[in-house]
Amino acid sequence: MRLELSPEDAAFREEMRTFFTTRVPQEIRDTVAAGRELTKDQIVESQRTLNAAGLAVPGWPVEWGGQDWTPLQRHIWHEEMQRACVPLPLAFNASMVGPVIATFGSQEQKERFLPATANLDIWWSQGFSEPDAGSDLASLRTTAVRDGDEWVVNGQKTWTTLGQYGDWIFNLVRTDPDAPKRQQGISFLLIDMSTPGVTVRPIELIDGGHEVNEVFFEDVRVPAENLVGEENKGWDYAKFLLGNERVGVAPVGATKRMLAAAKAHAATAGPGGTSLLEDPLVAAQVAELENELLALELTALRVVAHSTDGKPHPASSVLKLKGTELQQAVSELVVDLAGPASLASGAGAGSDLPEWTRLATPTYLNLRKASIYGGSNEVQRQIIAGTILGL
Ligand SMILES: Cc1cc2nc3c(=O)[nH]c(=O)nc-3n(C[C@H](O)[C@H](O)[C@H](O)COP(=O)(O)OP(=O)(O)OC[C@H]3O[C@@H](n4cnc5c(N)ncnc54)[C@H](O)[C@@H]3O)c2cc1C
Repeated sequence: MRLELSPEDAAFREEMRTFFTTRVPQEIRDTVAAGRELTKDQIVESQRTLNAAGLAVPGWPVEWGGQDWTPLQRHIWHEEMQRACVPLPLAFNASMVGPVIATFGSQEQKERFLPATANLDIWWSQGFSEPDAGSDLASLRTTAVRDGDEWVVNGQKTWTTLGQYGDWIFNLVRTDPDAPKRQQGISFLLIDMSTPGVTVRPIELIDGGHEVNEVFFEDVRVPAENLVGEENKGWDYAKFLLGNERVGVAPVGATKRMLAAAKAHAATAGPGGTSLLEDPLVAAQVAELENELLALELTALRVVAHSTDGKPHPASSVLKLKGTELQQAVSELVVDLAGPASLASGAGAGSDLPEWTRLATPTYLNLRKASIYGGSNEVQRQIIAGTILGL
């Protein structure tokens, strides 16, 4: 395995670096760098800037705005974006529903939805999980019953991330309750969230933010043409989508950035502005995290090198597992470095305490989610045991 980029790939990296650091508004990148919450407008503006340059959906078919890049180029694009503090293109659009429509949708659906999805003219939400149907997704109960040219949808989804901004939601719905296997009676349905009968209710989180929601469907009438692919084949499309979701899951670039910032803070966070990096315990903790991140980075490159057929490599579960563990470990280190000042979560800009100390605890708490969504880490361990270790 080559660990050095070829001159072409190094030039590609420079091109990405220059674009991300000069064309995406500085104020948006500063917001990401500080760990503050992005507004909807900032996320939309950033994605439209990328899309105008053909950099929002490189994984899609070229015909619909994708790029004929190698897996390594896609990896470099992804890492450089994180390194430059550019918000990643909205995953629901770019890596979830877009590829599903491009692969399984009708020509009308492709024309209607793909350009708007790439440009974030439509903000998509993901309506998969339900109460009692998370890891065991096949037990979902939301129903869609055919009535003439329409589907009538009833049920409840939960943990719908940023559903408060959603224009449309892609849903898994049960269309055949009598199918011999639970997976066989599920369909993939696109629903306009402004349809009567759709209600979005916020879930308040421990970090004080509003990131997830419950979505209720009461006799929601959906045009039949909004079904993607074949009726009762939704499970196949969901598996395809979840496979894509796990690509690029190890946020190595962002975690490296967080760790570098933590080191910079540590340099003056000791009593009287002294450096905590001279404390052997802190220094050892930082060195261990740096080494583990380097190992993860190399593993990510190995996975990329073996994903040439476009399918996610089973080792992507290792990336999800280790990547989220390291992300959480770095956020824990930041809380330790902030010390008592980390208790000031919720203190506003008027506080005397530095912003990073005020954000340390909410960030730490928020990142507990990373080991749950996108397939919980326990489930990743099951996949690793079965598909990699053959246990
Ligand atoms: C912040 C956040 C955002 C999310 N956003 C969305 C979204 O936008 N759209 C959407 O559809 N969903 C979303 N989800 C849902 C997410 O996909 C589920 O939470 C996840 O799949 C886990 O399901 P669950 O919460 O029902 O937990 P459960 O499946 O009930 O799991 C509970 C515990 O049991 C463990 N467990 C379950 N099965 C196994 C097994 N086979 N082996 C070993 N251990 C197991 C789990 O790891 C976990 O520790 C989000 C979740 C979070 C936390």
